[in-house]
Amino acid sequence: MTDIKVYNGNQIGGCITVITSSEGKVMIDFGSNLPGAEGADLAFDWEAGNIDAVLFTHYHGDHIGRFKEIPPSIPVYMGRVTRQVMTTIAKYTKDTEALQILQDDRRVHEVRAAESFAVKDIRITPYLVDHSAYDAYMYLLETPDKTILHTGDFRGHGYRGKNLVEMIKGYIRRRGKRKVDVLLIEGTMLSRLTEKAYSEADMLKDCTRLFREHKYVFLICSSTNADTLATFYQAARRNRIKMFAHPYVCEQIGHFREAAEYWESANKSREADGGYHGPYDFKYVYPYAPAKVIPAYGDLQKDITQEEIMRRDGFCIVIKADGPYKKWIERFRDLDPIVVYSMWEGYLNPEHKAYNEKYKAFLDSCGHVQYMHTSGHATAELIAEVINAVEPQESIYPIHTENAKELEHLNIKEELRGKIRYE
Ligand SMILES: [Zn+2]
Ligand SMILES: [Zn+2]
Repeated sequence: MTDIKVYNGNQIGGCITVITSSEGKVMIDFGSNLPGAEGADLAFDWEAGNIDAVLFTHYHGDHIGRFKEIPPSIPVYMGRVTRQVMTTIAKYTKDTEALQILQDDRRVHEVRAAESFAVKDIRITPYLVDHSAYDAYMYLLETPDKTILHTGDFRGHGYRGKNLVEMIKGYIRRRGKRKVDVLLIEGTMLSRLTEKAYSEADMLKDCTRLFREHKYVFLICSSTNADTLATFYQAARRNRIKMFAHPYVCEQIGHFREAAEYWESANKSREADGGYHGPYDFKYVYPYAPAKVIPAYGDLQKDITQEEIMRRDGFCIVIKADGPYKKWIERFRDLDPIVVYSMWEGYLNPEHKAYNEKYKAFLDSCGHVQYMHTSGHATAELIAEVINAVEPQESIYPIHTENAKELEHLNIKEELRGKIRYE
């Protein structure tokens, strides 16, 4: 008999799932609690745990942050871009232990969208989903007696989200021919119902307009949020503004660009991964180096510094809400730049437990700040649509949520409502 155990499902972040079949035992995600979380990270007994493999849904710290604690004998599975993003982080933070693990092919196995693999008697198929991480997967696990779908984090309002329900019906449900017994579904937004659904496409429109009026922009955004970076990049392109960033950010962006190019060229016909990679071209993103001299630049045919180009054409510079970047803003203070904050608003709210004093102080000192952000998570409406499309035969477990009970009030089919389980 297959057994499912969810740890920390009633919080956003640090949620861990263990699925045991008659022969195998697989863990999904092993991340850290989010900042401000009440309890300590889960103490997992690896010795007694008997885990055969750990699957990572994506590269956010609340899902993969504790990978170094996993004993070397246990293989871990993750997407290629997840591995690259984590490697770049390890490189720049000089984390040699993490680097060693990530570069070890005996320990790290790369998964690909819609390509199944087996761990003992469990057949596993990853499906690429839209999220604020570029490389995020839902996992379908088929044991001899159960079919289980674990959504990981997902949403529908990014560049690759519009086919989600179709993907579930077509690839996962095979037009009704495959039944899913158990659904584990993320419910982040169930406790953030007042946050309005603002899509990347909406933000692109607003941002294109904003850049028309302000051509000197500092952008505070996660360096691994490929969709939002793509949105600002496109808005900048439409206004003939170049994007600049720390070499670390440029390296992360390079991974998204490379992956998108690969899919564009090799997999045009394949839709299991969402099939749309256009926005991630990122050809005109440059490492921030204002003093750098660019020889015989463009039509001018003369040497010019990066700063002169920035001052002439405008810029969108990706920064962090962190001390050292203050100097970057000060350098261009005379141009009256604006600062766009494109991260979750909760970090700036002193009432919220994830309140980040450092961010708040940084932004308070910035002058003109504009807030523009799309959520990385599915709206309550989409959560209901996914539940209805998956039509779980036995049970629905809300995970990664602080408000699981809200699930009962969503617009889901009556016969499914009784299948909601709380761990
Ligand atoms: Zn998460
Ligand atoms: Zn996430």
